[in-house]
Amino acid sequence: MNTICPKCGSDDTYTFFDSILKTSGFHCDACNHDFGVNGPEENDLHKYEQGLSDFVYQRNHDGSTKMIEIHQTEKDTVLSCRIIKGMSISQAQPITGFAPMFDQIKVLLIEKLFFLDWEEEMRDEESKDESEHYSLTLSFNNGIKEIKKTATGKMPSYLTVLDQLFDSLFQGFSENAGK
Ligand SMILES: [Zn+2]
Repeated sequence: MNTICPKCGSDDTYTFFDSILKTSGFHCDACNHDFGVNGPEENDLHKYEQGLSDFVYQRNHDGSTKMIEIHQTEKDTVLSCRIIKGMSISQAQPITGFAPMFDQIKVLLIEKLFFLDWEEEMRDEESKDESEHYSLTLSFNNGIKEIKKTATGKMPSYLTVLDQLFDSLFQGFSENAGK
């Protein structure tokens, strides 16, 4: 199976290598976009991974709002998580020493889920379902500009992977939330 395009969800894709620009990546024939482009200079995906210091994820789904924040400093990397359901807010004990896991999340997000190529703002005009929503903001400590992406109603193809990841991390926590 081909790699799924992060923009349109099609698998009508192929890999390419550009010997002049020294870049490699994927091209989607369905929407005619490149994605996952990696190479020197501004295409160096590792720069994004190295500089990523703050991850702020908000996910509204199924009547609840999940907030996940990862903050990395020189001293420590801390994950905090909140779930809001109706009037009740549950906050988990922040997890310290999260750096190794955060490193894995960075690679997953940038190289496997192609977050840089997700649509900046997706909106399903037909459905008025505002309760299905996500926003993800990444901040960097190496001069890369903050990146924020959101969607309402219609979600990007790779978002389920993030949801599954965090659901598995917080299974016990989310089961008890709002009770
Ligand atoms: Zn596409």
